[in-house]
Amino acid sequence: MNTPISTKSTAVQEVPAFHGSSLELRNLTMAYGDIEVLRNVSLTVAPGTTTCIIGPSGSGKSTLLRGINRLHEPKSGDVLLAGDTILGTNPDTLRTRIGMVFQHFNLFPDHTAEENVALALWAVKGMPKAQAMAKARQRLAEVGLAERADHRPRDLSGGQQQRVAIARALAMEPEVMLFDEATSALDPELVKGVLNLMAGLGRRGMTMLVVTHEMGFARKVADQVVFMDEGEVVEAGTPTQLFDNPRSERLQRFLSEVL
Ligand code: ADP
Ligand code: MG
Repeated sequence: MNTPISTKSTAVQEVPAFHGSSLELRNLTMAYGDIEVLRNVSLTVAPGTTTCIIGPSGSGKSTLLRGINRLHEPKSGDVLLAGDTILGTNPDTLRTRIGMVFQHFNLFPDHTAEENVALALWAVKGMPKAQAMAKARQRLAEVGLAERADHRPRDLSGGQQQRVAIARALAMEPEVMLFDEATSALDPELVKGVLNLMAGLGRRGMTMLVVTHEMGFARKVADQVVFMDEGEVVEAGTPTQLFDNPRSERLQRFLSEVL
């Protein structure tokens, strides 16, 4: 007997494209007190492209991301989002335009996945609660967590918690997504799923700046790779240029240690 093929189980959910904006850093210099930890960093990320930032611990990668959404104010230089400077703009507004995902997911432990995603929508964007919850469910479905919307963080795996954090950032409809070692705290078997999700966002047109130790991801997914060391951009180029033909001794040494 022929069993009809169910279209339900094979139906791929239609996911809308993103409209990522350009991001440009011009001579960005950042300091903690008197100590400069980022010097004259210039970088252009074209709309809808993915740039991976690699480099040793302490080289200034997190500080760079913190300057872009003004968690830490730059000392000098400029950051342009969609061609306009972000300096002097309202940081809360800016953080709806630039989503950020951290190594530690920073979810509210006493709220469900759905509430974690919806909270910012009603608290920051003033969206009515019912609408925010509906949107949260939609975003959770997009990251593969439709069935987990009512779970609290402690009842989710690390990978699922990071998906909630990504859904929460996406709910704000950002123009750029920043990832700071988003998979570094995950158990090894959960890393790939989150990386695949991130790669999918890039394919959908999000502009992404990804600090990562996952060299395989950088090689495969990045349009541009940036190597930082001691607060400076040492080399930037395509994955092939950086991984197969590193020019500087510093990058050659770094790659020999991590690959
Ligand atoms: P990475 O993310 O590449 O590991 P960071 O941006 O975290 O590097 O750090 C760059 C430098 O700034 C390091 O020398 C670090 O010790 C220093 N640093 C980072 N955060 C602070 C802070 N809050 N106060 C003072 N120094 C800091
Ligand atoms: Mg860091």
